[in-house]
Amino acid sequence: MSFESSRIAQLKRMQNRKQYSVKEYIEGIRQGNTQLLSKAITLVESSKPEHHALAQKIVEGCMPYSGNSIRIGITGVPGVGKSTFIEAFGTHAIKQNHKLAVLAIDPSSQVTKGSILGDKTRMLELSANKNAFIRPSPSTGALGGVANATRESIILCEAAGFDVIFVETVGVGQSETMVHSMVDFFLLLMLAGAGDELQGIKRGIMEMADTIAINKADGDNIKKAKLARREYANAIHLFPPTKSGWIPKVETCSAIEHSGMDKIWETIDAYKRHTTANGYFNKKRAKQASEWMHATLLEFLKSSFYNNTDVQSLLKEIETQVTAGQINPFQAASQLFDSYKKD
Ligand code: GDP
Repeated sequence: MSFESSRIAQLKRMQNRKQYSVKEYIEGIRQGNTQLLSKAITLVESSKPEHHALAQKIVEGCMPYSGNSIRIGITGVPGVGKSTFIEAFGTHAIKQNHKLAVLAIDPSSQVTKGSILGDKTRMLELSANKNAFIRPSPSTGALGGVANATRESIILCEAAGFDVIFVETVGVGQSETMVHSMVDFFLLLMLAGAGDELQGIKRGIMEMADTIAINKADGDNIKKAKLARREYANAIHLFPPTKSGWIPKVETCSAIEHSGMDKIWETIDAYKRHTTANGYFNKKRAKQASEWMHATLLEFLKSSFYNNTDVQSLLKEIETQVTAGQINPFQAASQLFDSYKKD
């Protein structure tokens, strides 16, 4: 490394370590500075209490500048083509003059401690686009929980001027409900002819979808995809009516060939018009705000409980008694809770 490049690397490291004030964060984010946006999201996802306190202040400061976006949840089993689709659909959105942020929730990262979603290397074209911001999924350990970290990241991205937010999740059942509770529109990607059981998609997830897109409708697969589209459209009519009054749509697309993207985008536009006109769009966001409050409250209670000194001094001993079968779990929990309430 030459003297010049090592000097630049050193300056970069110093810049990275620089401690920013809450005001600098908020101003930087509002100006669309993605480096500060990334740093703020890292704070939101941190397991350190001091980071979390700073993150809370930044999120609060950004809150008045948030909300002006369409939040789209995207799910489907591994292999259905989510990252290829996000690349194609995201590029389409950017061509319509939107700024796109891609966030991810990955329940498996709690087990593997790795990230299989939102990985930059999977979306090469998008990650090189200055109007796109791609954030890998938070690993386990976010102080306020993974769901709250994602909610807060949405706020930060919106304050930074991103007006289309994708929240990607893997279709295995746990995270869909979580994502559904933080987005305006829920898109389910499926494949033709794989059978619902094979695709591991539970009926409950299909019922949450505002649109089902049958991906890989290309080559020999086009006919099968069209057939599947009719079958799913028929199945949807048997579902209970949605609260939004919106009848979920079924479309076909090919993420690899970038086809069908305009149709899906139009569907989202139509959904937004429909739910804005009947008041559901705002009602849903208001309900989500109240859910967020409850989720945050639960996190506060949990950390207050586990940080309580009386609880901490009792916990180990009572845990040992439970595993030894000396007291039952309910009695144990009651004892711990009583010692917490005493304070
Ligand atoms: P993910 O696991 O859901 O994110 O799926 P990927 O985007 O990684 O795609 C899985 C595989 O399906 C890859 O080999 C892709 O090239 C392929 N694939 C994705 N979309 C399409 C499509 O529209 N048509 C075809 N033929 N293959 C696709």
